[in-house]
Amino acid sequence: MFYDYHMHSSFSNDSQTDMENMIKRSIDLGVKEICFTDHVDYDLDTDFDWGIDYGKYFDKINFFQDKYQNQITIKKGIELGLQKQIIGKCSEDANKYPFDFIICSIHAINKSDLYFGDFFKVKTQHEAYEAYFKELYTVVKNYKDYSVLGHLDLIKRYGNYDKLLEDSLFSDIIEAILKQAIYDGKGIEINTSCYRYNLPDLTPSRKIINMYKDLGGEIITTGSDSHNESQVAYQFDYIYSYLKESGFKYVCKFNKMKPEFIKI
Ligand SMILES: [Zn+2]
Ligand SMILES: [Zn+2]
Repeated sequence: MFYDYHMHSSFSNDSQTDMENMIKRSIDLGVKEICFTDHVDYDLDTDFDWGIDYGKYFDKINFFQDKYQNQITIKKGIELGLQKQIIGKCSEDANKYPFDFIICSIHAINKSDLYFGDFFKVKTQHEAYEAYFKELYTVVKNYKDYSVLGHLDLIKRYGNYDKLLEDSLFSDIIEAILKQAIYDGKGIEINTSCYRYNLPDLTPSRKIINMYKDLGGEIITTGSDSHNESQVAYQFDYIYSYLKESGFKYVCKFNKMKPEFIKI
């Protein structure tokens, strides 16, 4: 009864996998419902184009929704890469198209894509983490057109440091981010890409997941962040039992941006 709510296809710049292959693999695994969340990232200082042809995107999802309607439910989502200077543009996209679900992610700060590492060059590790959480805080304060926060502590994935910094160093700002999200009726996702990046904890960390729960947060989605078939629903057996053990009663699916609670 898994719900994979973070999945990329060849509509994303960093995936070559056709949507249909992702769907077939999900059906083979018995996944109940999937949501495509291809990348849209604006205003980067690189030459990569992270836009999407929304017309083609929705046409193709519609086609596969019909074709596989007896085997799996497929939802229309997007992973928007937020930066504070493009909040207006992201809201425009979010309101213009018939999304079921929107992931709000930070992939870049001041146009600098965290993936390429320049962002880390003139900063200490502490400064880099702090800048990331501050950017996310500014975004959640001002941007409301989303469903869940994507890979909330993504900064731990990059920068090539020997050791990660403890969440406790940033607990004030992390708590402020979570409180704002909860106040706005937003969720967080458990993103199982942590296993691909050999991170020592989940994404976000168990501490952050529990902080969200203790603050009253109830909206959790599960996402593999898969970019090819082999990554679909990765480690979901463990994640669902972990959530249950941690006291969560539900995971969420979304319909036209509204959460629906599924008992774990
Ligand atoms: Zn992402
Ligand atoms: Zn992603």
